[in-house]
Amino acid sequence: MTAYDANNIFAKILRGELPCYKVYEDEHVFAFLDIMPRVPGHTLVIPKVAARNILDIKPDDYAHVARGAHRIAAAAMKAFEADGITVQQFNEPAGGQVVFHLHMHVMPRHDGVAMLPPASRKEDDKVLREHAAKLTAALKAG
Ligand code: AMP
Repeated sequence: MTAYDANNIFAKILRGELPCYKVYEDEHVFAFLDIMPRVPGHTLVIPKVAARNILDIKPDDYAHVARGAHRIAAAAMKAFEADGITVQQFNEPAGGQVVFHLHMHVMPRHDGVAMLPPASRKEDDKVLREHAAKLTAALKAG
């Protein structure tokens, strides 16, 4: 497997070198909106440790990401009045991975509404700002 590249986009976001719509951070994980959301509220949860994907991350670090996704899922249900949640996590190009810092997708779903294909279009900044604010508020409300 290819080695972790510290210059991947999400590593730059973690270091604050690139902007993002942050929604959550703790000691172990960082979460921000996908700028090409497949559904409104599409969020990415990443570990703070350098890990390419499930194949090189330590199990306990993976568990931290799952805990983060669990927390985001509960908040997204409320923030987006969702009917369900899709969680996805891709590994290596063959597994559908495009950005090589491990991330879990957390996507609020509504009955009868299909997801857009990946990377269909960049969402408007205003919409992303509003969605980040809604999700952040729901996370703070617990
Ligand atoms: P994948 O590696 O296939 O799990 O997907 C990478 C995801 O990252 C896609 O859903 C992209 O829309 C998303 N993405 C790419 N660049 C950025 C960025 N700068 N900020 C937020 N999301 C991004």
